[in-house]
Amino acid sequence: MRDFFRLSTIIIVYILMVCPVMAKEKVTVVIDPGHGGYSDDASAYGAIYKDELCEKDINLTTALAMKEELEQYNNVEVYLTRDSDVVLSLEERVDFAYGVGADVLISCHYNASESHLFYGSEIFTSAFGSCYTTGHALASCIMEQWVNDGQASKGIKTRIGRTGEDYYGIIRHGFEVGLPVIIIEHGYLDNHIDYERLGMPEDWERLGRLDARGIAEYYGLSKDHVWDDVIPTVVTDMPDGRVEPDTTPPASVSMNIIECNIETSEVTYEITAREYESKLMYYGIALGDPEDEDVDPSDYADLILWDEGCTKVTGTYSVPTGYRGPITARVYNNYELYTDSATQEIDFATLLEERTELLEQAAEEARKKAEEKKLAAERRAEAARIEAEQKKEREKVGDFFFFMGGDEKEETVDPAARKRALYIEIIALVVFIVVFISLIIIRHRREIIKYIRNIEGNDLDT
Ligand SMILES: [Zn+2]
Repeated sequence: MRDFFRLSTIIIVYILMVCPVMAKEKVTVVIDPGHGGYSDDASAYGAIYKDELCEKDINLTTALAMKEELEQYNNVEVYLTRDSDVVLSLEERVDFAYGVGADVLISCHYNASESHLFYGSEIFTSAFGSCYTTGHALASCIMEQWVNDGQASKGIKTRIGRTGEDYYGIIRHGFEVGLPVIIIEHGYLDNHIDYERLGMPEDWERLGRLDARGIAEYYGLSKDHVWDDVIPTVVTDMPDGRVEPDTTPPASVSMNIIECNIETSEVTYEITAREYESKLMYYGIALGDPEDEDVDPSDYADLILWDEGCTKVTGTYSVPTGYRGPITARVYNNYELYTDSATQEIDFATLLEERTELLEQAAEEARKKAEEKKLAAERRAEAARIEAEQKKEREKVGDFFFFMGGDEKEETVDPAARKRALYIEIIALVVFIVVFISLIIIRHRREIIKYIRNIEGNDLDT
């Protein structure tokens, strides 16, 4: 029994703590299209894009789509602070919302930055008490819709003014009357990455519908069912004090050059960074040394999103052919504060020279090898030619030697000399035969003569 009472008490206390005013049949949402009207005050127009898009009109388009979508749900009443192009002060917007008993005031905006570098969506909420908890919880549901739609999240943030109160007037006035106000910045129309996703009227309407779904998600609203009570589905813990924005840049940033590829003229880098108060958001690489002020912020154009939750990223960066000089990495947190890495020196010029030298050496070696090959081939051809000639001669002389009973194996003798020797041998043989016959004739001349006469006498006898 005691346990039952204790449990009941805990449940009742929890319900009273979590939803002191939310246990109601209907929730009242006031949508505020930021800026509006014609005035000497530039804030009436909001940001102007490409000299033709005026933020006040875009905000209204989104707000109207948001209202139309949200009104399809049950248990919700929706108001707009303005539904036409009129000037309204921030106090008037808050007073209107307060007057209709708003549970929350959602101020609808699109962003721009001086450098045009930033992109992504962000939501600002009060830094104090239940204005913070309601604002933050609702913002988390809207942000989820945006992220699922492909937007980069710059986070849900607070911003403190010089007096120590909320920086944005509409949030500050809301806090003064106990009304949670959030400023929803859908994205940057002055940045081409966001512009591609948010640049057209159908995009402004799509985002309005997403906002409405985020609000419905937060309050657990349904298009089909009417609930007895509206109870938020997300609870953000009550902060101890003021929720501080991050006012310091990332704690540390270092860059390591992994490779310089002269074929592609690309640097492969690894960047390590740490941020303890907020989150790492973007990074960029630029040539030059920021300390010498030869790096312009626009050199970091096309900031790359940092992989959420990581301390390291790697990538490649294209440099001009033969670049020799400093290179630096810049890492931003989601409060647009940055830290530069120590500058690294890269030297594609020397690498190119070395490569040219190596290529020349290789070409010289190849040329030498080709020449040697050619010479060897020539020598082989000459040797083959000589051998063929010798073979021919041997065949001729060989026939003669065979006839003369000569020795065919005397291959070392020059064929011409051999020929000469042969002729001499033949002549000597002929002379010897002639002399030998002559001597025989001379020696036996009488017998020969007598023999011849006998033959003649015999002939006469017959
Ligand atoms: Zn604005």
